[in-house]
Amino acid sequence: MNLVPVFYNDELLAESDSRSPSAGKPRPVVDAWVAAGLPIELRPVVPATIDELCLAHDPEFVRSILTCETPNGFGNQRADVARSLPYTSGAILGAASRALETGIACAPVSGFHHAGFATATMFCTFNGLMVTAVKLLRAQRVAKVLILDCDYHYGNGTDEIIGRLGLASSVENLTFGRSYRTKSQAAMYLGELERSCTRFREFGLVLYQAGADLHVDDPLGGVLDSVQMRQRDRIVFTAARAASVPLAWDLAGGYQVPVSKVVGLHLATMEECVRAYAYDCVQTAGCASL
Ligand SMILES: [Zn+2]
Repeated sequence: MNLVPVFYNDELLAESDSRSPSAGKPRPVVDAWVAAGLPIELRPVVPATIDELCLAHDPEFVRSILTCETPNGFGNQRADVARSLPYTSGAILGAASRALETGIACAPVSGFHHAGFATATMFCTFNGLMVTAVKLLRAQRVAKVLILDCDYHYGNGTDEIIGRLGLASSVENLTFGRSYRTKSQAAMYLGELERSCTRFREFGLVLYQAGADLHVDDPLGGVLDSVQMRQRDRIVFTAARAASVPLAWDLAGGYQVPVSKVVGLHLATMEECVRAYAYDCVQTAGCASL
């Protein structure tokens, strides 16, 4: 059986003290995957080092965030948030690194794509996507990275860092949130996604933001209904597997109340991941309903 590696430990959790459940939701999400009997394997997270965070950020910004001198992306200066941040970036870095070896891995974390070179905003503090991309590019483990951002919102921080570091030729930020705003665009969205996925072979790594706030019921979203959300994930995972391009994915946004609705969407994403990659899991109880 193929197991999907999931980079998780409790150190990446925090109390964000904001309307975003992002800092606390990794645990209920992973619990839901385990309870469903999905074929995942939990792997420990190695926190990103200060040097690694500085690959995509201003060193003074990194220092002032980690010492709680300036507000984080949740707009507070909580020490538990600061402590968790190297773990959230470390989770996506670990997942991407693992995906380069095994093809697929998951980091059940959020809070990256609005973070700029020296700016923390909108629930995002450090841009783990860019930390990961730059780290793997510098190590020459990959030549070109696609950030496939299917969160509802525009990944402006990612674009800003790419521009600032002059990485446009080696990192492409395909952020659907720049163009799609309403449910009337659902068919167009999925059509463009399918066309985009035909380009996977141009890249050595895909970082997929499987945002749950793209759902039409999300108070900050949305575009797709529940069936279409599954379709989104299936398009991405099956295309990546068919193209043999390594893919690491994270949770990104999701703001429905209660949080169980958001957890349900992330459960569906993992089910689609398992369907695409752990194809022989149909014999297990957890996959029987897929
Ligand atoms: Zn979002």
